Amino acid sequence: MAVKYTKPKGVQDLLPTDSYKWLYVEEKLRKIVGLFGYKEIRLPTFEHTEVFARGVGDTTDIVSKEMYTFLDKGNRSITLRPEGTSGVVRAVLENGLLGSAPMPLKAYYLQSCFRYEKAQKGRLREFHQLGIECFGTNAPESDAEVIATAAAILKEMGVKSVKLEINSIGCKSCRPKFYAALKEYFDQYKAQLCETCLTRMEKNPMRILDCKEQRCHEIAQGAPNILDYICEDCKAHFERVQACLAAMDISFTINPTIVRGLDYYSNTVFEFIHTGVGTQGTVCGGGRYNGLVEEFEGVPTPAVGFGMGVERLLMAMEDEGAVIPAAQTPVLYVASLGEKGKTQAVRLVNMLRGKGLYAEYDVVGRGLKPQMKYANKIGAKYTLVLGDNEVDTLTANLKRMEDGMETEIKLDETLADALV
Ligand code: ATP
Ligand code: MG
Repeated sequence: MAVKYTKPKGVQDLLPTDSYKWLYVEEKLRKIVGLFGYKEIRLPTFEHTEVFARGVGDTTDIVSKEMYTFLDKGNRSITLRPEGTSGVVRAVLENGLLGSAPMPLKAYYLQSCFRYEKAQKGRLREFHQLGIECFGTNAPESDAEVIATAAAILKEMGVKSVKLEINSIGCKSCRPKFYAALKEYFDQYKAQLCETCLTRMEKNPMRILDCKEQRCHEIAQGAPNILDYICEDCKAHFERVQACLAAMDISFTINPTIVRGLDYYSNTVFEFIHTGVGTQGTVCGGGRYNGLVEEFEGVPTPAVGFGMGVERLLMAMEDEGAVIPAAQTPVLYVASLGEKGKTQAVRLVNMLRGKGLYAEYDVVGRGLKPQMKYANKIGAKYTLVLGDNEVDTLTANLKRMEDGMETEIKLDETLADALV
């Protein structure tokens, strides 16, 4: 059978013709999170599996079904990161940052993640996330700041049709009461819930609220509201988050069914949903995770953060017709004839590149006419032709492609100044 060299399901090639869009978005993302005080953290692509699957009982789809896990040649269980937060927590603890760095510690990452999911538009097996994590404060102002960071990104990127939904899922002390109420409610519908939700009932009934099965979703509509169960402290915290959002003119709605896709969240959770992207509309999701550092055996440290899908961000931008500046084009194409002319072209272009200018010459061995055609295709702003005559006089005609205007220039360092 013939070998087929094709990419696996759910991954994408980013081609030279399109990469400018990503470079533009990435640069902007880095700039915006920088304004909010985040410094980059770069982490390994794979970790020991325990970093993501801690202990028993994780009920999320990500951990129970979607991980790329394998044994390496030393028989260690390794997992390609399905999300960013766990790796960041592992790294800040392993490197002693939570004890030594001034708090809050703010770190961001821009990296690929891997999930074995049903591949479809906006849902890939390798995708990219911008994530921010803020450690060392439980103050509601920090929740609001994290949400504001995501809001600023969406605004800067021209994504307007987006709604922010927030919720509080309470803390360790107020949740058992809510779980009991949920169990009592869902018990009546046991016969109608999906298989997975039946196990969720035992381990984490809150997760049923998040089920994508139509029937479970309908039943969940009548479930008890978490906001009726959270304790006074959690309530006050949540109200303060809302006040801070209002102070920044960030509009939101409270959606008590948002629970988020990972088990480590507590208190504030939120999602930014783009209304034009359809079912894969969640561009950004995040929340507070005060219990996670402790799960990694660190000194209990409150934290809050988000993950934003870069592919979904780009989809939302495209949907809204956001303008992405085109890739850079050469300022000059030096066409040439004969060996002497070609040597001069090589010298000149090399000199210009040394001055930081984007210039090109013929590296294919084309005739003059096809060289000019190529210069046009690649969008060169100026061209000049070097033949024997130009080499002898060390002058040439610089042609502005836009209007055909020609000026005589010297073939020396001053050429750079003529290219404006
Ligand atoms: P969803 O509900 O769409 O499955 P999630 O709750 O699994 O999302 P998170 O784990 O919070 O998502 O990840 C944060 C963001 O990463 C999401 O809001 C989304 O934009 C993006 N994302 C998650 N999974 C994928 C995927 N398989 N392909 C592309 N983007 C993804
Ligand atoms: Mg998911």
